[in-house]
Amino acid sequence: MTQTTPSLPSNSNASSLSKVRVFVRRRSKRPKTTSLALQQHDLQPPTRDDHYKRSSFPEIEDFAYSGANAITQSSKSEMGLDVTLVESEAASTRPTGELPAHWERVLEGIRRMRCSAEAPVDTMGCEKAGDTLPPKERRFAVLVSSLLSSQTKDHVTHGAIQRLLENGLLTPDAINNADEETIKKMLYPVGFYTRKATNLKKIANICLTKYDGDIPSTIEQLLLLPGIGPKMAHLVMNVGWNNVQGICVDTHVHRICNRLGWVSRPGTKQKTRTPEETREALQRWLPKEEWVPINPLLVGFGQTICTPLRPRCGECGISDLCPSAFKEASNSSPSSKPKKSGPNKKR
Ligand code: SF4
Repeated sequence: MTQTTPSLPSNSNASSLSKVRVFVRRRSKRPKTTSLALQQHDLQPPTRDDHYKRSSFPEIEDFAYSGANAITQSSKSEMGLDVTLVESEAASTRPTGELPAHWERVLEGIRRMRCSAEAPVDTMGCEKAGDTLPPKERRFAVLVSSLLSSQTKDHVTHGAIQRLLENGLLTPDAINNADEETIKKMLYPVGFYTRKATNLKKIANICLTKYDGDIPSTIEQLLLLPGIGPKMAHLVMNVGWNNVQGICVDTHVHRICNRLGWVSRPGTKQKTRTPEETREALQRWLPKEEWVPINPLLVGFGQTICTPLRPRCGECGISDLCPSAFKEASNSSPSSKPKKSGPNKKR
């Protein structure tokens, strides 16, 4: 994700804004692996039926990026939502699109890599915003975090959320009553902080006047808010309301799904052109229980290994399964390039 470097607003009081809360890193329950290579038993491709025979969601708690599943599993009662309905809906949904070859082995390989290294999204992603707050306040925090996250790195968004929180400005009421200059100072150096401050004021007012101080609870209503696009709306539905309506596809998910050959434009083998096209293509085949965890999984993978420029294919545990392996400029030395073998070999 690219980040702009906005100019500091006038009358900025940076020193008063520098206090940030430190997250305590949660230790993974599973011993970390040093080898990213897939084991032989992983090379038996499961069928779609095998996938749906699973009695529960994947073991996401074991991974460093556990936030998404923690929401669907352990925060259900806290959210006060009918999660049984959400889960039964997910279990009964059977995407009908054609499954990409080896997709479960690729997913498992990425999970293994994500176990071995923490990414910024694991501690500072939008899913983490306000995670100690009561449900209603937390939903607003997730919405604000989503708004701020575009064109902004996770740690910068996280810093702005912490400043708003510490200054008592992370509620619709407080934002509505604050002057816009104060909001700008809190948001800086978030990308497009001036425009986002304006939109945040408007959103707070809409939440107060139309939703009794809460946030909208449908995709359609969320998309009517200024500055909120499909990626953010789906993330807010998934995290804020625990109501999975679609996959949150950001630039990392969009890029990696295309590199893996998981998505294409309808009726073609060409890459999708936009995150929205990727979302629609991915939803045609990806089982619904993966719709929430796929975002933090691939975002973290994109932040650490499958980076936008010079992906680290030489360190990637699924390079023998990836059709894009070593095709883009890599910072891996030529000698580290493994010989292609196995399922990714041209047949
Ligand atoms: S092999 Fe390279 S392009 Fe493919 S997923 Fe791994 S890092 Fe990304």
